Amino acid sequence: MKLKDRIEVMQGDITRLKVDAIVNAANPSLMGGGGVDGAIHRAGGPQILEECKAIIAKIGQLDTGKAVITSGGNLPAAHVIHTVGPVWHGGGQQEAKLLAEAYTNSLALASEKGLRSIAFPNISTGVYGYPKREAAQVAFRAVTDYLKTHPLPERVIFCCFDDKNYQLYQELLQNIKD
Ligand code: ADP
Repeated sequence: MKLKDRIEVMQGDITRLKVDAIVNAANPSLMGGGGVDGAIHRAGGPQILEECKAIIAKIGQLDTGKAVITSGGNLPAAHVIHTVGPVWHGGGQQEAKLLAEAYTNSLALASEKGLRSIAFPNISTGVYGYPKREAAQVAFRAVTDYLKTHPLPERVIFCCFDDKNYQLYQELLQNIKD
C-alpha cells in the first residue's frame, strides 16, 4: 500500500476513535493530567489509571520519549499507548530528537503487539509548548520514516484538535510524494 494511503489526518476528539490504539501525551508520572491526558482518563475510566500505577510501581517514571501500553478501559479503542513528549525549552535541549522518539517508540510498541491502527494526538503542542509547525514536521517525518520500513501498524491517524494543527497536518499530507 502507498505511504499516503496509510496516513489519515482528521480533526476531533481522540477518545472517540475506535482503533487498535490511541496514543496519550502523558507526563512522566502516568497519573493523569490536563489536556488530552485528562480526556483519555475521564473517558476511559479507572482501569487505565490502575494499569498505569502498576507500570510506575515497576519502572519509577516514564522517561521522555519512551512509551508503554495499557488497555483502553471503557474507550472504543482497544489500547492506550502512553508516551511522554518533551517540554519545549527553546529547541536547544534535544526537543526534536525526543519528540521523534515519542512517535517512533509508540509505533514500535504497536508493531510489537501486532496492532494495525493507531491514532496520535499532537504530542507536546499543548501545555508542553512545542511550536506547532515544528512539531508537525517532526511527527510527520518520524511516522513516514517508520512506515516505510514496517508493515505494522498498517494505518496511522493524526487526530488534530485545534484548527491550526489540522491545517498544518493537511498541508504535510498533501506534500507526500508517493
Ligand atoms: P502536552 O503536555 O504533550 O503538550 P496536551 O494534552 O496539553 O499535551 O496537548 C497535546 C495536544 O492534544 C494539543 O494539541 C491539544 O490541543 C490536544 N488535545 C487536547 N484534548 C484532546 C482530545 N480530546 N483529543 C485530541 N487531542 C486533544
